Amino acid sequence: MTTSPQPRPAIARIPPYVAGKPPVPREGMTTYKLSSNENPYPPLPGVVEAAEAAVRTMNRYPDMGNASLYAALSAKLAVPTDHLALATGSVALIYQLVQAFCDPDDEVVFAWRSFEAYPIAVTAASARLVRVPVLADGRHDLDAMAAAVTPRTRVVLVCTPNNPTGPAVTQSELDAFLAKVPPQVLVVVDEAYVEFVRMDDAVDGVATYRRYDNVLLTRTFSKAYGLAGFRVGYAVGPAALAGALRAVSLPFGVSGVAQAAALASLEREDELLERVDSLVAERERVVAGLADAGWQVPEPQGNFVWLALGERTLEFAAAADEAGIVVRPFAGEGARVTVAEPEANDRLVRLVQDWVSPS
Ligand SMILES: *Cc1c(COP(=O)(O)O)cnc(C)c1O
Repeated sequence: MTTSPQPRPAIARIPPYVAGKPPVPREGMTTYKLSSNENPYPPLPGVVEAAEAAVRTMNRYPDMGNASLYAALSAKLAVPTDHLALATGSVALIYQLVQAFCDPDDEVVFAWRSFEAYPIAVTAASARLVRVPVLADGRHDLDAMAAAVTPRTRVVLVCTPNNPTGPAVTQSELDAFLAKVPPQVLVVVDEAYVEFVRMDDAVDGVATYRRYDNVLLTRTFSKAYGLAGFRVGYAVGPAALAGALRAVSLPFGVSGVAQAAALASLEREDELLERVDSLVAERERVVAGLADAGWQVPEPQGNFVWLALGERTLEFAAAADEAGIVVRPFAGEGARVTVAEPEANDRLVRLVQDWVSPS
């Protein structure tokens, strides 16, 4: 007999979300945060002004219907507005979809290692985690994921490009996978980094959602659009699925300031995508530099690279701290490093060179 309020037992099992550390300031050295896959560019001209204008109405609730932003996304993607669901970041969408589609002990299948918010959201809903190890090259093992689907499976999460290992699935792989998954299982394609993908046979998420009644895409303004601090993400899916997400969403979740900044960013999309091109070019430069140093990374298709350092991960992260770059270590597994300013990327390459062949 307990004498105090007890949360559901699942709550004690929720793994902590480890946020990327900020850099420690170092005397005489610029330091860089490469630990959260943020966009290193400051907001485009006009975006701050749009947000500032919205600040002046903070005494009012935001437009709960997010009408302007829904309309802009609907036009951009050529999808009806009732096939969209906005939320406070795509992390919120993941919580909402588990809440909307899973009863306790229902199963959610996802690759591992993948995005650390998945086990948190699934556990919080008292659903069951079914983790399918990624292949040695960091790719999803979609055959094994299809085989892991049982009558209890409600949702499969496909993270492409995969955070933190980097590779993306191809359209052919996704189609073969979808052919094996029963139609009552929701397949979520987490496209947080879709703007950074440059590969043959790349997934066309919007075309895929049009072909399947059980596919939902999640996207975000946090990465390519550089609005991580404002928390805006959206799902694209058939009306019944998108509607279920909206039904469980927090009323007035996306602030007026965030709506205004996202709208202004969409209006400046061409300029934003040029910046994405520069980051992709930097990514290629980092991959080449690491290869010259004798270090291969799994093919990165997002704005980050994965160094499979195993037991040496924490030692490497400490050395990176010393070099003024903060990476995101996963102890015993590897380090995820965001591709950012050229100087930061140069430091990473130099550090790995020294690491591989100490002078
Ligand atoms: C960063 C990230 C997100 C986006 O998170 P927001 O809540 O939109 O900031 C979603 N999925 C993956 C895999 C990510 O890495």
